[in-house]
Amino acid sequence: PATESKRLRIAMQKSGRLSVDSQALFTSCGLKINLREQRLIAHVENMDIDILRVRDDDIPGLVMDGVCDLGIVGENVLEEESLQRQLDNDSFDYTVLKRLDFGGCRLSIAVPQEEAYQGPAALEGKTIATTYPRLLGRYLKQQGVNARIVTLKGSVEVAPRAGLADAICDLVSTGATLEANGLKEVDVIYRSKAVLIQRKDLTDSKQLKLINKLMPRINGVMQANE
Ligand code: ATP
Ligand code: ZN
Repeated sequence: PATESKRLRIAMQKSGRLSVDSQALFTSCGLKINLREQRLIAHVENMDIDILRVRDDDIPGLVMDGVCDLGIVGENVLEEESLQRQLDNDSFDYTVLKRLDFGGCRLSIAVPQEEAYQGPAALEGKTIATTYPRLLGRYLKQQGVNARIVTLKGSVEVAPRAGLADAICDLVSTGATLEANGLKEVDVIYRSKAVLIQRKDLTDSKQLKLINKLMPRINGVMQANE
């Protein structure tokens, strides 16, 4: 029946840099999750919650389209999807419930180590490979630089050596990957962390009550980690 409350659906990354921390956060909040099987959906045994385990790239859309109620995703992926949807005239609404204390990284421009770089103007007329064309496009526009953007879903860091690009714009945390590929970080264009987001049109009172119960626990876990 339509009046019956549905289980709260939370999307998290199935396997990758955010999965362990996302799962640890849920566990710290008291969710008993049965993750033994490699299933898409994991039922929380002690609360009306289902955990959906998906590619991180799918999480913003699942929440913006209202298919999932909450999600944990990197701001980089979230902002890229928002910009893309704005350009496509699709809905891009969501609420950030909490900026989390994991998944920290920066989206940076990197060029070959031997290259002199005196600022973004050096990118004029160049070809830049990235997985984040909209974030990079916004930055270049702000800087008044015209460059060609090549979108690659993976192996961005090998693009200059492969002759596919003059520079790259990629996620960095330590810089070791850049160095291993003969590149140096020259400009940070975006700083990111994981965020907990909620869909905009969530009105079910039981689900809202459940979220109101979870939020103080999340805040408590984060304070304890400080
Ligand atoms: P999926 O298979 O889910 O698509 P992925 O390979 O796209 O995974 P990961 O490499 O697991 O993604 O990164 C997920 C998120 O972790 C990134 O979008 C970013 O927000 C964050 N992150 C933190 N540090 C780094 C880093 N050094 N490199 C890449 N991402 C990082
Ligand atoms: Zn991904």
